[in-house]
Amino acid sequence: MTSLTLTNPALNTAVPIDVAIIGSGPSGLAAATVLKAAGVGRVVVLEREQQAGGIPLSCGHPAFGLREFRQLLSGPNYSARLVTQAQKAGVEIHTQTTVAEILRGGVLTVATSDGIFRITPRRVIYATGVRETPRSARLISGARVQGVLSTGALQSMIYLQQRRPFVRPLVVGSELVAFSALMTCRHAGIRPVAMIEAEQSATARWPCALYPRMKGIKLHTSTQLVEIKGNKSVEEVVVAGPDGQTRSIECDGVILTGKFTPESALARCGHLHVDPATGGPVVDQWGRCSDPVYFATGNLLRPVETAGRSWAEGQQTGQWVAQDLSGKLPKPAKSLNIVIQGKHLKYAMPQVICPNGDTEGMVDIQMRVTERVSGTLVAHSKMGPIWKRSLNSRPERRIKVPISEIVSQATDGTVNFEVEVPSK
Ligand SMILES: Cc1cc2nc3c(=O)[nH]c(=O)nc-3n(C[C@H](O)[C@H](O)[C@H](O)COP(=O)(O)OP(=O)(O)OC[C@H]3O[C@@H](n4cnc5c(N)ncnc54)[C@H](O)[C@@H]3O)c2cc1C
Repeated sequence: MTSLTLTNPALNTAVPIDVAIIGSGPSGLAAATVLKAAGVGRVVVLEREQQAGGIPLSCGHPAFGLREFRQLLSGPNYSARLVTQAQKAGVEIHTQTTVAEILRGGVLTVATSDGIFRITPRRVIYATGVRETPRSARLISGARVQGVLSTGALQSMIYLQQRRPFVRPLVVGSELVAFSALMTCRHAGIRPVAMIEAEQSATARWPCALYPRMKGIKLHTSTQLVEIKGNKSVEEVVVAGPDGQTRSIECDGVILTGKFTPESALARCGHLHVDPATGGPVVDQWGRCSDPVYFATGNLLRPVETAGRSWAEGQQTGQWVAQDLSGKLPKPAKSLNIVIQGKHLKYAMPQVICPNGDTEGMVDIQMRVTERVSGTLVAHSKMGPIWKRSLNSRPERRIKVPISEIVSQATDGTVNFEVEVPSK
C-alpha cells in the first residue's frame, strides 16, 4: 500500500458510515436494502466491478427472480431490479471500488481510481460470493492451451464481451451451474460434444439432469477428465470411463463447471477465522464472524446456493445487523462449536452457536455430504450421542439440522456431527 489517502471524493469518507457491504451480488444488495428499510443511516455497498449486481449480471439466461419479484427474469434484468430497489431505499452503491484489506474493528482498506484509503464503518457485511475452482487447482494434466474456461469466464465472454471462445467444447461436471453453461452455449450457437461427471449420476436434481439429453448432448457418468491435449488451443481430451479405460474425445474447448469455493481471500489474508470445510469465514447463527464487527452472508458462507436463496440470506443478515446496531444481539460470549467428523460430511454452517440468544438467527445448521451416503447422522457432545436421524443424501443436496434440537441438548463445548454407515 503506497498512497494511503484519508478521504475519497466519491465515497465521502468524512461522513460516518453505519454499514459497509463488500459485494453487490443478490445477498449484498438485499442486506443493504433491508438495513435502509430498518432505518439505519448511511449504508454503502462497495463493488469492485464496473457494474453492480454480482454473478447474475453475466447469466444472460432466465430463471432468476421468482422468489423476489414473482417473475422469471434474465440475470442482468434481475440484477438491475435489485440495484434499483437498493438505490430507491437510499443505499449508496460504489462500483470500481475494491476492498483490498479488512482489519480488526471494521477498518477497511479500499482501492478506487482516486487512490487507496481507509473507512471505518460501525459494521461490515462481507458478501463476496463464490467462484469455481480453476484448472490449476483441479490438477488436470496436459497442455497449457487456450480454450479451458470456467462457466463464469464463459458467461462473461459470451454475455458481456460478445465473444465465442469455441464451438465444440467438452463440459466437465453436472452441478446446477453446468446446466447454466449449457444454456449459455446454446445462446451462443456452441454445441458441446459431451458432458462428463465423475460421480455415478448427475449432481443436479431432476429435471435439470434431463436437459443435456433433450438437447442431444451425451452425459457420461463415472467419467473423469485425465488430460487436455492441443498445440495452441484444445484439440482433444483424454477421459477415463467407469471401467478405468481411457479414450480420446475430439473437441476445441473445455468448460470446467462447479466445484465452488467461497471468495474469501480478504478473510484468509486478514484476521477473521476461516473454516477449512466451507472455505468461508466462521460464523455464528447471525452470520457474525470471529471479529463481531463483521457479518458474512450469501454464498460466501458456503458453496453453493441459488441467487434466490442468497438474496433471502442477505435480507436476514440485514435484519440481524440492524438489530446488532441497536444492541439487540447477544454478545458472542458462551458458545457451542459445531464440528464435522469422518469422511462423509463436507461442511456444517454456522460453525458456532450462541445458545443464550433470544433473538432468532438461522433456524438450521446447513450441511452437505462429500459423496452419496446412506446411514445415520449423529451428533455427539462430551455426554455422548445427543441427537440422530437417518440420512440418505448425495453431494450438493441441502441437509438441515434444526438448531433448536441441538441447543436443547447441549449449550457449550463442542458438538461433533458424523454420518455413521452400517458396515456391509
Ligand atoms: C459461474 C457461476 C454461475 C452461476 N449461475 C447461477 C445461476 O444460473 N442461477 C443461480 O441461481 N445461481 C447461480 N450461481 C450461484 C450464484 O453464486 C448466486 O446466484 C448468487 O450470485 C450469489 O449471490 P452473492 O451475493 O452471494 O454473491 P455474488 O453474486 O457472487 O456477488 C459477489 C460480489 O462481490 C464482489 N466482490 C468480490 N470481492 C470483492 C472485493 N474485494 N471488493 C469489492 N467487491 C468484491 C464481486 O465482484 C461480486 O459482484 C452461479 C455462480 C457462479 C460462480
